[in-house]
This record gives sequence, C-alpha cells and structure tokens, in this order.
Amino acid sequence: AAMREKTIRKTKTVCTYCGVGCSFDVWTKGRRILKIQPREEAPANGISTCVKGKFGWDFVNSEERLTRPLIRRGDVFEEADWEEAMAVIGEKLGAIRDRYGPDAIGLIASSKCTNEEAYLMQKLARAVIGTHNVDNCSRYCQSPATQGLFRTVGYGGDSGSISDIAQADLVIIVGSNTAESHPVLATRIKRAQKLHGQKVIVADLRKHEMAERADLFLRPRPGTDFVWLSALARYILDQGWHDASFLEERVNGLEEYRRSLEPFTMDFAEEITGIAVSDLIRAAEMIRDADTVCILWAMGVTQHTGGSDTSTAISNLLLVTGNYGRPGTGAYPLRGHNNVQGASDFGAMPHMFPGYEPVTDERVRKRYEEAWGVSLPDRPGWNNHQMVDAIHDGRLKAMYIVGEDMALVDANARRVQRAFEQLEFLIVQDLFLTRTAQFADVVLPASPSLEKEGTFTNTERRIQRLYPALEPLGDSLPDWQIIQKVARSLGADWSYEHPGEIMAEAARLSPMFAGVTYERLEGYRSLQWPVLPDGTDTPLLYRDRFAFPDGKARLHPMTWIPPRKREPSYDLHLNNGRILEHFHEGNMTARSAGIRSKVPRAFVEVSPEVAKERGLRNGMWVRLTSPYGQVRVPVLVTDRVRGRELYLTMNDHEEGAVNLLTGNDTDRETDTPAYKEYTVRMEVLDEP
Ligand code: SF4
Repeated sequence: AAMREKTIRKTKTVCTYCGVGCSFDVWTKGRRILKIQPREEAPANGISTCVKGKFGWDFVNSEERLTRPLIRRGDVFEEADWEEAMAVIGEKLGAIRDRYGPDAIGLIASSKCTNEEAYLMQKLARAVIGTHNVDNCSRYCQSPATQGLFRTVGYGGDSGSISDIAQADLVIIVGSNTAESHPVLATRIKRAQKLHGQKVIVADLRKHEMAERADLFLRPRPGTDFVWLSALARYILDQGWHDASFLEERVNGLEEYRRSLEPFTMDFAEEITGIAVSDLIRAAEMIRDADTVCILWAMGVTQHTGGSDTSTAISNLLLVTGNYGRPGTGAYPLRGHNNVQGASDFGAMPHMFPGYEPVTDERVRKRYEEAWGVSLPDRPGWNNHQMVDAIHDGRLKAMYIVGEDMALVDANARRVQRAFEQLEFLIVQDLFLTRTAQFADVVLPASPSLEKEGTFTNTERRIQRLYPALEPLGDSLPDWQIIQKVARSLGADWSYEHPGEIMAEAARLSPMFAGVTYERLEGYRSLQWPVLPDGTDTPLLYRDRFAFPDGKARLHPMTWIPPRKREPSYDLHLNNGRILEHFHEGNMTARSAGIRSKVPRAFVEVSPEVAKERGLRNGMWVRLTSPYGQVRVPVLVTDRVRGRELYLTMNDHEEGAVNLLTGNDTDRETDTPAYKEYTVRMEVLDEP
C-alpha cells in the first residue's frame, strides 16, 4: 500500500452524475484525486466534461462517508462488522418473509449503481425473496417517457445517439433545462447551431439558457404541452406536410389517431396553452422545412399527471413527420442519473425482467425459472409509490433501499417518512447517513463509482465500463458484493467473483444484451443496445422496423385531460428542478467543498412582478406553504420566471427540500409523482 501511495495511477471511469455518460481518465495518487482527463476516444463526450464531472469528486473522501455497517439499538446506531450485520438481516428478513409472505418485502435499486448491481437487486427480489416488488428511481423521472415510447415505437430508450442530435436540422427541447442538467449534450447543440445552422425550438415555463439561444421559444401554461404538441400534429396533417409514404409503409393507426386530433385546433391550443397561434404555425413550418428533427424532453414533461400522454404526443408528432429511423432524427428522453437507463434495462422494475420482457409472459418467466431454479409469481409487483401506500396499509413490512434518499426525493416527503417509521425492518445501503438511512434498522456502507467495477448505460443506450480507481474506504464495499451477502444471508448460494460474471449471466438470459461481453467493452469501447449475439450493436433504432411483432409503429389516439386543479388559496405555481452546480438533493455535490461554497443552499426564483407586489429583494427569506408542508428559502428575483410561477431549486436536504411541499398525485399511467403540478403560498420572513 505504501508503494501504491507514491505512484500516480490513471483509471478509466464513467461520470457518476448525469445520463450523458461522459467517460474520462481519473488520475489518482493514493486516495487523492489529482485530475480528470477527458480523452478523444470517449464516445459520448470526447474531450468535454462539465463542472460536476470535473470537480464533483471530493465526496468520495468526505469525513461523512459511512465506513462500517451500523445496527440500530434503540435510538442510536452502533458500529458492527459485516458478519453481525448480515446475521441481523438474515434473521429479520427471513422471519418477515416466513410470517407475512415474500410480498411483504420491497426492494429499491439505485440508478447510481451499475447494471450488474441492478441485475442482482432484481434477482435477489425475484429468485431469493420470491417477489416482483423491486423498482428504481426512474419512477421519479422518466417512466412516463418510457411509457410513451412503449405505446408508439416499442423500445424504452433514446431512439438514436447524441451524434444524431448534433446532426439534426431541427432540435425541439420540451421541459428540459438542458444546459444545466445535461451540460455536455447541450454544448453539442450549441456547436451545431454555430457550425451548421441547426435550428432550435424550446418549450418551457422558464426562460433558461437554451430558451435564450432558441430560434423559437414557446412558453406554455404549466402542464399544457400535450395540447400544443397535438395541435401541431393536426395542423401538419391538415396542411399535408406529413410524411405520407412513411405513414403508409411503417405506421399503423393513422385514421383513429387523426380522429382523436379533432379538438386540437390552433385556436384551442392558444386558448389552453397561452401560446400565440402565429408562434405555433411558425413551429409547424420549421418542422416542415427540416429534413431531420429530434425531440428532447425531460422532467418538465414527465412529472405531471399527464406525463405519459405528453410523452406519447411527442412520439406521435415524430411519427407523423417521418422523423424516426434516419440519422439525425428521433425521440430523446434525457435520462437524469448516470445509470437510470441501466437500472430499468436490467430489470429493477416490478413488471419487467431485464431487457423489458414482461413478468406476465409465461414463456419469459419459464426461462428465468429454469435458469434460477425457482418458481416466480405471475403478477407484477409494486412500484415504489405503491410500496409507500402498502406500508401505510400494513401490507409491506420491510424494505431494502440501495442508494436512494426516498425520504427526501419522493413526493410528499413527510408521508414517506411516516411510512418508514412504521416499517418493521428497513435496510439502507448508501455512502452517507442520508435522511432515509436515519430511519433504518441496519445501514450498510457502500462504495461510490470510483471504488468499483461494472458498467453504466447512458441516455443513448450506451453501455460503458468503469474500473476501480480507489480502494473501498474503510469497511465499505462495492454494492454488488453487499447484495450478494444479503442474498447469502437468506440462504442463496451466490458466488460471483467479478461483475463480468454477472453481465455474462444477464447476457445469456436477456436477448437485448445477447452480445454484451466485458471484452467487447474493454477500455473506452462501448455498445448500444440491443446487441446481437455477434456483438453488432444499435446506435440508431428503427432503421427497418419498429419493435412490435409486425415491425410497424403505432400512432396512439389521444384525449386531453387537464392538469390537476389548483387550490385557490395557494396562488403561486411551484416549478422545480436542478441547477448546474448541484446534482439533485445534493447528497454528493453538497459534500464537494468547491461546489458548496459557490451554491450553499436551495433558493427560489421569483418574477419581477411578484417581487414588486410583495416588496421582495434578492437574498430576502420567504416561507412557502403548500397543503403538505413548508420550506424556508432565500429569494432570487429574475425574469427567467414569469408571473405567478416560482422555480425552487432541488439542491437541499434540509428545510429547503422541495418535497416537503409536493403531494400524492401521480402520472395516470406510471405513478410517477406529479412534482411539477403543485401550488403554494408565500410569506416574507424578517430573518432566515
Ligand atoms: Fe458528468 Fe453529465 Fe457533466 Fe458529463 S455532462 S461530466 S456525465 S454531469
């Protein structure tokens, strides 16, 4: 070890923050991180990174890292060794399963963990415990986007690559603060604007950087994107600007879809969205004039009661205009976490095995039953929203949560916290003693990406390897090793010695990953799923066929259901999201000294009108109150927000946490919380 301290090592890794999936070399000396060096051959980013990827790594050496397992004794945690912790887990989880049945246990996988770890979590739930109650945090973000794509084109992932976005004639960005949430991807668009005159349309509530740079900025009323998207589709069909031969040869359902568009006239769209008809017509003309169109979207679309429907409307519009299956076209739901794509791809979902094969399909179930030597339930399990309800109903008794601070990031945080208080047994595995971990009976110390080996899948379905740059800190362990210990504590005979063996098993069982091997992913090499047995991968989906049995896409008929009604005494709309410097609630970035000193806490953006009306200046403190709770935050007056719309940043894990204000409404199809559909009252405070 002393020798190693002196040598400088270069290790290839993949960023642990957003779904762009930048890869780079990290230079280390002992535990010191000397620098991040991006390289030309990095497939998603080349020589670019953003501030988080470059400077957001101090957290790995934070004093607050968990280095030993903790076991609750009354009100305090006591340090333990792995054997003691596993003895408690084996006994308690085993007893709960025996007493209440396997469905009394729920598992949450982490979208910060590797594909191999997601695979093991779902295998633990299904093969060892005997339940499909396993989910991951795409339930909080992109499940509605996936649902929109399942309905229309068949695969739950971006249809092309980041390079397609760069070469499109027209990029439409809906409800995504791309410059701050997916910085390196945004630079691709900025460069394309300069180099080949790429046109950009942005639709958002907030005039963020990409909106400023857009050729056309559409500012709909909150929750109404569905209407203008459908109106554009109708207008394009009415004008005869659609791609008739594409629709004829490759798409089903045009007639019924067209009938469903009847109500979506331009006038209706203006009335509902507040966007002028002239702007909508201009958008339609820009689509007509572009040979290739990509549509990008994120939480501004999905975190609504109609998130799946709006995502479907996006895909419908692409189908009508023939913008699938050619370079420079397609649908791009921008994945938030580094591996939120992979967590779902590898089956950490209550209704799907790895590779999006339904648990209700007997043929598929048989394949897994035979491979694992077990019999599996034939009905889907609970998603994470249903798990919280099931705790309140007394049906769910124990949870094993990996790397997910549910007590803060799930909507209506107080209700989630009350649920955790009621659990008979809670295991939390994380880097830090998060808010969620404070409710645990056993806390297991995990390793961050720099301390482990495995693969991540970025937003463009690209699977990339990461290699360990540091030894695990203290007694902490890579998650796959901990999950294996938990399985063994329940009597399973797992003996994986390397993550490559886990990937080999997943590739054997799931056709989507048939040709994935660690050799084919060596170094900076990567593969975009689906990967054929011979190793051929798929940078661009739907070239010849859509992922349905007859190979044809499906236009999905649509009905407009307005967003949830506001309560009149809560007079301000509460939008919320990320800022460049921080990642989500800040469990990692707030422990990076440089970032914390720049942006220490959450703040709320207030429009100049509301500031004038209430006598607010920058830095003054306000209390925001919703029917569910309160937060206290300082104010930033800015014309990025408009009228009675606020924007609360989500980088707070204390009294500014946004989910103290959000409630229980969810997307109608997927149960994704409607984080963006709440209203609040604001009071000015005399002091912080
Ligand atoms: Fe990491 Fe995303 Fe920044 Fe790339 S753009 S360095 S993946 S946070």
